[in-house]
Amino acid sequence: MSTKKSGILKSNEKFYRTIRIRCPAGYLDSDALGKISELSKKYGNGEVCLTSRLSVEIPYVNVEYADDAKAEIEDAGLVVGGTGPVVRAVFACKGTFCPHGIVDTRKIASEIEEKYGGMKLPVKIKTGVSGCPNNCGKAQFNDIGFIAYSVPEVAGDSCNECGKCVSACKEDAVSLEDSVVSVNYERCISCGDCITACKKENIISKESGVRVYLGGRAGRRLIFGKEYKRPLKEENCIKVAGLVIDYVKENGREGVRLGQLILDDGFEKLEKYLDDNLSF
Ligand code: SF4
Ligand code: SF4
Ligand code: SF4
Repeated sequence: MSTKKSGILKSNEKFYRTIRIRCPAGYLDSDALGKISELSKKYGNGEVCLTSRLSVEIPYVNVEYADDAKAEIEDAGLVVGGTGPVVRAVFACKGTFCPHGIVDTRKIASEIEEKYGGMKLPVKIKTGVSGCPNNCGKAQFNDIGFIAYSVPEVAGDSCNECGKCVSACKEDAVSLEDSVVSVNYERCISCGDCITACKKENIISKESGVRVYLGGRAGRRLIFGKEYKRPLKEENCIKVAGLVIDYVKENGREGVRLGQLILDDGFEKLEKYLDDNLSF
């Protein structure tokens, strides 16, 4: 019998199901899309829809053929899932090729997806990865949220006074006065745009990494994720995601989202767990 956990969802029409296909970091190659197109015509009404977490769904699959459709999708090498109390599809912004991107969001999301995607837990875990503080991934509304940052520093003596850094800064944090460029760190949000704008390498990144937010959720009960005190290097996101998943496995209660667990047990408990298990 088909269940929600299997990636087959009920619809508001009794005889139809929707089949959800995971897309690692929001990417599928054109062969996979062709196969989904073919199967949506064979089993559904020829349409596909996209979820807010970048998965693809085939709607209007007759309940009698839902398991056959799932089997055929899986035979094509695609993964049906992303529903129920599991590690859900990891949402990544387009930071990998976005001009604002500071980290390889696709790599971070794909690593988490590959290692933990679909893992059963007492409660679902949603992860969001944003490649810069513009935060298109809405990281703080995920159980695990990552936001990349880059702190600028005026370090060179190669300034040609072009003013591109001043115009690039949307926070009005860069000034050019009397031939001197300076950054107001009270206004700066570490987006790195002035660093990218300066082609003379007069502004460089003095520190970059990823900030971590834990226990956020959207939906009917909003919780804003709490920032973990230690920012990470890009390559350590997978480690932290794994530890948070382990924490939920060990301490989680059925159906209780991480944000509520933090409210009940205290953020300090989760922070200590991470501190005790992080070796970097
Ligand atoms: S969060 Fe930043 S890097 Fe990611 S898509 Fe938005 S602007 Fe680009
Ligand atoms: S990093 Fe971003 S916010 Fe900070 S000074 Fe540069 S452009 Fe402005
Ligand atoms: S963008 Fe670079 S070169 Fe141009 S004014 Fe700013 S620091 Fe100077």
